[in-house]
Amino acid sequence: MKPAVAYLPDEIVVEESVKQAPVTQRVLERLSQVPVRFLPDSNQVRFALSGDKQAQTKGKKVLALVNHKGKFLKPRADVPHYRCYNYHYLYWGTNCHLECTYCILQAFLNNPLITLHVNTEDLKKELTERFQDPSSFWRVSSGEVADSLAMEPITGLMEELIPFFAQHDNAVLELKTKTSLVDSLLKLDHRGRTVVGWSLNTPKIIQEEELKTSDLDDRLAAAKKAQDAGYLIGFHLDPLVYYHEWEQDYQQLIQKTFSLIDPNRVAWVSIGGLRFLPEMKSIIQQRFPKSKIIYGEQIRGTDGKSRYFRPLRAEMFKKINSWLKEISPNLFTYLCMETPEVWEEALGFVPENDAHLSQLMDERALSLRS
Ligand code: SF4
Repeated sequence: MKPAVAYLPDEIVVEESVKQAPVTQRVLERLSQVPVRFLPDSNQVRFALSGDKQAQTKGKKVLALVNHKGKFLKPRADVPHYRCYNYHYLYWGTNCHLECTYCILQAFLNNPLITLHVNTEDLKKELTERFQDPSSFWRVSSGEVADSLAMEPITGLMEELIPFFAQHDNAVLELKTKTSLVDSLLKLDHRGRTVVGWSLNTPKIIQEEELKTSDLDDRLAAAKKAQDAGYLIGFHLDPLVYYHEWEQDYQQLIQKTFSLIDPNRVAWVSIGGLRFLPEMKSIIQQRFPKSKIIYGEQIRGTDGKSRYFRPLRAEMFKKINSWLKEISPNLFTYLCMETPEVWEEALGFVPENDAHLSQLMDERALSLRS
């Protein structure tokens, strides 16, 4: 078993206004060996890297603890023609050191530093206000612009947020990770309000393209621990990568997963194919010259992202779905960012719209909560 590479920056930059924040204190204590600089504004470090061809790589060696002044809860971007469920994402920090070659953050973020928004009292205040209407329901993803648990040993942030979400009946917190860093979460009183999700891939793809993440055995062992601690768990077979032995490898991955995990306590399994923004091609070539991921045949979707041709996507999704349903016909599976046509071909049904898919997911989580 290989755990994820622990994050160790060369420097920590702290904005003076959040010097005393509890998360800042924890980070400085847990990384006491790392040099610290206090600044009025961390942007000067970020701007110093602009124009540097190595900015992505150098930025990950700097941890910035900042005072976030905007909203913490953001709606996911609406993508016409592609179906996905409705959720908000939690803007608790940005960027990630785990170095997946295909990581979309490389093209998406305009700040190369690993950044934590440490004014968590403001974050919780905003959530409390937004959750006040009992008729609204909030699905909150913490894994949109960072891996939910990659920084957990340093920040203790999810350890703080899981009991917070446990107090709110109209909200669910979703974690998404490629690590095994769950130990600090196991004893928490989560009240079924947190779903811990793992992105899974075949050993070949993990080794070649998810460079600093935990290996498959380590992720599955962590998922088992979380399930034994009463958490609902989720899996994301995303991004599926097409290569010569993909069928055999993904089938084995599914069998291995459910030889350890009880499918009846799995909230959902998402299925999605490799997709990336065209500008990422040159970034991947420059940062990860050994990666082969960009060389398959792709077409450009209406969302601007490159993806496999529709017949290949539909075939891959259909087979993956059938292997999952062989494990348990009750497993809730859904496609991530796919067209109604591919839904129909691969899964044999199409949610009426994003709200309908969200409703199905809520019903599934609710049915497993008791
Ligand atoms: S774990 Fe997620 S956020 Fe981190 S590098 Fe990989 S794809 Fe990006």
